[in-house]
Order: sequence, then C-alpha cells, then structure tokens
Amino acid sequence: MRRLLIIVICFSSVIVAIAQSSEEKLLKEFHNIRSEQVNGYAKKLCGVEFKGRLSGTPEYMNAAQWVADNFSKWGIKPILSDSSYFQMFNCGYTIRESVGELSVLVKDKKGNTIEKTLSFPDDFLPGSNSGSGLIDANIVYVGYGISAPELKFDEYKNVDVKGKVVIIESGVPYSGKDKSQIEEWSKYVSAKYKVDNAISHGAVAILHVGLVAKPGYPYNENIVYAHIGDHIVSELFFGTNKKYNYQKSLIKKSLRPASVEIQHRIKISAETTHFTNGEVCNVIGVIEGSDPILKNEVIILGAHLDGQGNPGALFPGALDNASGVANVMATAKALSSMEEKPKRSILFILYGGEEEGLLGSGYYADNPLFPLNKTLCVVNMDMVGNGRGFVLTRVDEYPLLKKHFVESNNNYLHRTLRTSSEKRGEGNPRTDGHLLYNKGYRAFGLWISDREKPLYYHHPYDTMETLTPEIMEDVSKWMFISVYNIANDTLIDINNIAK
Ligand SMILES: [Zn+2]
Repeated sequence: MRRLLIIVICFSSVIVAIAQSSEEKLLKEFHNIRSEQVNGYAKKLCGVEFKGRLSGTPEYMNAAQWVADNFSKWGIKPILSDSSYFQMFNCGYTIRESVGELSVLVKDKKGNTIEKTLSFPDDFLPGSNSGSGLIDANIVYVGYGISAPELKFDEYKNVDVKGKVVIIESGVPYSGKDKSQIEEWSKYVSAKYKVDNAISHGAVAILHVGLVAKPGYPYNENIVYAHIGDHIVSELFFGTNKKYNYQKSLIKKSLRPASVEIQHRIKISAETTHFTNGEVCNVIGVIEGSDPILKNEVIILGAHLDGQGNPGALFPGALDNASGVANVMATAKALSSMEEKPKRSILFILYGGEEEGLLGSGYYADNPLFPLNKTLCVVNMDMVGNGRGFVLTRVDEYPLLKKHFVESNNNYLHRTLRTSSEKRGEGNPRTDGHLLYNKGYRAFGLWISDREKPLYYHHPYDTMETLTPEIMEDVSKWMFISVYNIANDTLIDINNIAK
C-alpha cells in the first residue's frame, strides 16, 4: 500500500512537472510578444511603399508578399494546392492622380461671384472611384437620393437635377424598429442604387455627405463625386431661406422629401483611371495540428489586409486595419514558436477586398480550405488598436470556447472583457466576421472598447499616432494563449458544441 502511495505521488509530481513546464513554455512565448514588435508590423503596413493597400493594386500585392515572407520565415506553411500563400480573386480598382479640387462659387451682397476653395481633408475627401472630369454646375440637395414610389417617397420629384450636382446623405431616413419597414427601405441603402438613381435623373456629379472614404463606392464613368463635411453643406444652404440641419431632420421625422435647389455653383474635378480586371488575394498560412485526428479540425484567426489606398494622398489605415493584421501576425509568430505544436490546426487569413464589400471572406467561404463542419471557430480582428477593454461578439452561445477567452484574460491580462451573444448585429454584414457567421461559421468579432485616442474612420488621419501601443501587445497575448488552449482542449467535441 505504501509503495503504491509512493508510486502515485511520484507519478502525479511528474504530471505536475510536465504541466508546469508546458505552461512555462507558453508564458515564455507570451512574454516575448512586445508592443514594439506588434506596432512595428502595423507601422510597416502603413508605410508609403504599400500606398494604403488598395485591393487590386501592385502595392497591395507587395504588402501581401511581405506578410507571406514573414509566414515563411516563421515556419507557417502555405496550404493552397499550388503551394502559394495567395488565394487570388478579381477586384476592380481606381487610381487617382490627385485628390482633385473642389470650390464653391457664391455670390456676395453686391452680386459678385466669389470662389471659395475647399480644403482636403477637413472639408472634403476625394471619391476613390470617381469618374474623370471637371464639373461646374448648380447644386441640388436631394436628401437620401431615393425614389421609392411604393413608399410614396421621391426626393427627385419637385426638383430639376439635369446637368447639376446633387448632395446625397448616407443610409435611409427610416430609423424605427418595424422590421417590415426596415426591409422595405433597405433596398435603397446602397451607394450603387443612389448613384444609378442620380444618373437616371440627369445628375453629373455627387457630393456625398460625411468625411468617410469608401473604396466600395461604385465606379461609373459618368459621375464625378467627392465626400464633403456637413459643415460645408450647412454653408451651401446660406441664401436658400432653409437650414440644412432642419431639412435633414424633417425628412427623418416626416418620412417626406425635403429637397432644396441651391443657387450656388460648385466646381469639382477628378482625374482617375479605372481598372476592371484587378486581382487581389487572401494571404493564408497554416500551423498544422500535431494530433493525427484533431489536426483535421481548425481554428481561424483573421483580419482584412486591404485599406483605402492612395486616392491622391495616403490613407495609412492604421486602426483600420493594420492593427488587426499586425495582431494576427504577432499571434501567428508566437504560436509557431511553440515547440509543442497545438493538437488542432490553426489557419491565419488576411483578407483582401474587404473595403469593396467583404469580397475576401466571401471568397474564402465559397472556397474553404477546411470544411465548415471541421472549423471549430473563427476570430476576426478589425480595428483592434485603440482603447483599453476587450470585446468579443457572438461567443456567448459556446461556453466551452468562451471559457478559454475568459480564463486567459483573467489569469494573465486582467482587462475588462465584454462578450455578447449572436443575436445582435443582424442585418447586412459589415465585417468579415459577420459575413462568415451568416455563412454558418462560429465567427467571433474581436473589438476594443474604451477608446483612448481620437477615431478617424476611413480618413487620412488614421495614422499610427492614433493607436494605443499597450492594447496592440495585449490583443496578441490574449489571442496567443486563448487559441493555443482551445487548439489543445480535448474535451471540446466539434460535433457537439452547445448553440
Ligand atoms: Zn475594417
């Protein structure tokens, strides 16, 4: 009996020793993740050499190559059938020579015309997919730019926009909760619809309200467009006897058009070349699992690599989404440094074409490298570099997976962590994670709460200075431990995960 006891004690101390040493190894790699490293990747991605990583451009492919070279250096393997890291697909794109010029021609009290030049980027942003030309024409405010006879709502009805410039708002005026109403209005939300509708009424240029660049805006050679700040729209309303803010709120409140013909002229110029046959890629690398059976199951860690490009000026895209890519890379490097490989496989995907409408994640979902039913979960990182707290969406239904994210934060990072269930955020997907969720994946969205720096969304001021270096380090540390532990958890049965 005593001998048995000694054997049991010896045996359990061996187990403890093994367990300790594997935790020690884990912690060693954990501490090797440094903010200088993670921010260094982001800084490289934001550099002028990659010109803002616009999908379809050679500079995007250079950025993709740089990520792939790092994967290769770290022993992260290609998995595509041609042994490359690049899953290619088509994506048209537009090159702008300059941000173009925008000026307003207003009449002073004496009737003299004064030209006021608007400044980039505080008054306007260039249209990424603008047609070329110089337009000098009168302006008409057409609210949301919608003609919906079945909703008895036509913002072009009592105004003449032929040969003129229209000012258009984003979105739709309906903001209630009635689901059938949301559905009726939602077909008028896309920029494609609004551009086509403006053209069909004879407009020659569009001023889109809001200083947010959109590479996903449709290209049409017959339309020159730019994004303008709402302070400029307010100024343009001077002399109309109407106030911009009042008109806009009137549309929302009454669900009736409140279009206004404005007597000022505007000059807008753009010089662009459009390429319909651009090619872009997802960059994909894998750490193959060490368990003969579990290696067929995969955890995907992803972020979109593309950005706003260089439409006459550099849009570095630091937060959106060099921050996500840098964190996928740092996590990948740490995981690949573990001598003891995880039991399940881990796939890293840097998506292309996100800004053009989630093209890369959609392409992967249609051409997956592991079957859907062998994909344990996806974590998508988008804009993860500014703030203090962690947020993980759509994870609450999966306690066996959630537990690892919660435990690794509680044990090693101690940040506030907010999680949510998958019920939220219905409607059109706006992130790769949401799209993959709609396609049937357990796809979680990683975000950061408690912003610490100003947010410049799709704006040239989205630079490295707006990132919080400490959170960049901690996101990678958090993902490293969580993903490694999930990959090794043999109690998780992929065919029997609570939903
Ligand atoms: Zn993004």
